[in-house]
Amino acid sequence: MRHLYVHVPFCQRRCSYCDFSIAVRKRIPAREYVDAVLGELALVLDGSPGWANPGAMPRGSSSAALPSGAQFSDSAVGLETLYLGGGTPSLLPPDALGTLLTSLRDAFHVTPSRDDVEVTLEANPEDVKPESAAAWRHAGVNRVSLGAQSFDDGVLKWMHRSHDATRIGDAVRALRAAGFDNISLDLIFALPAELRRDWARDLDLACSLLPAHLSLYGLTVEERTPLARWISRGATAAQDDDRYAEEYLLAHSRLAACGYHFYEVSNAERDGHRSRHNSAYWSGRPYLGLGPAAHSFDGRMRRWNLAAWETYRRAVAAGLPAVEAEEILTEEQWEMERLYLALRSDAGLPRSACPPDRLTAWRAEGWVEVGGERVVCTPEGWLRLDALIHDLTSAGRAG
Ligand code: SF4
Repeated sequence: MRHLYVHVPFCQRRCSYCDFSIAVRKRIPAREYVDAVLGELALVLDGSPGWANPGAMPRGSSSAALPSGAQFSDSAVGLETLYLGGGTPSLLPPDALGTLLTSLRDAFHVTPSRDDVEVTLEANPEDVKPESAAAWRHAGVNRVSLGAQSFDDGVLKWMHRSHDATRIGDAVRALRAAGFDNISLDLIFALPAELRRDWARDLDLACSLLPAHLSLYGLTVEERTPLARWISRGATAAQDDDRYAEEYLLAHSRLAACGYHFYEVSNAERDGHRSRHNSAYWSGRPYLGLGPAAHSFDGRMRRWNLAAWETYRRAVAAGLPAVEAEEILTEEQWEMERLYLALRSDAGLPRSACPPDRLTAWRAEGWVEVGGERVVCTPEGWLRLDALIHDLTSAGRAG
């Protein structure tokens, strides 16, 4: 298992657009959380029947903490990436984060001196202080993904974010001073028109901080969020497709001018700083997820954990599996997955997988480019990724 994801579910409040599985807490139950995650890992290390067969784990058969010295067998050694996502992992007190990372490193045979394992922490700007940044670096974190979202205070307030725009620059500077050179910023685009958000200005301000990586997400309206309620009562309107496309394409041109390269539909890097963890997902590699709502994939089967923090915690404390459900992909689902994974990144699709008539039509429209034997989406192609996949699969069925 070379890629490990750990979900930290806690947030101080819910953002207006967010439907993630989170637990809003004023006080973070750090010790209970670390015990629960290490308890779940102990079940995995035990070769827990519950992991492969939910419901079969006998009660009380695992402790709620990683047994001293428990490790993956040597054949499983080779962790390449560890990603702490959420929720808001930066809310974990540094000592709890240190305990968690030390135990995980021990379990995966990663010596503290190894810096070739990409260890990412998602952080909110308001949590980044000189002391916290130094403690994260000391604990072994070497990449920070910062939830900036916008540099417009009015927009941040509308989003229910807890930071203002000046905190973003302060956070980047504190991280750099602590030794982080691999910093990513998240931004959200395609906001409702009445916010009058200046997307070009936000992109320029993000570039001026010289992050190694940028992730750009179009706003989507999810059910049961404050945003969905505002829309249903007519207080705001969802973004229209034309504006979505306009802002997406503007991001491509603006970021290219600043030296960034989009290597995936939503992600751009400079100087080769791709997210190695997310790239593993996009190339279909196996990964293990720990924590509430975390997903795992063993190359054939997907599993996902109980989503609610308390339900998850109680299950692990009782030695019960944290797995809520699993699915094995059918050959048809696999094929669809492979097409998506190939076309969403700059790895592209083998030319042989694309019928010649489709390839000719797509090139004429400017939706793909052909480099050697690979077919790679242009920004215009990424805007209509679903339609391209549909076109390919219907061509397959017709053939
Ligand atoms: S901080 Fe992130 S996970 Fe938490 S509510 Fe906001 S968007 Fe959702």
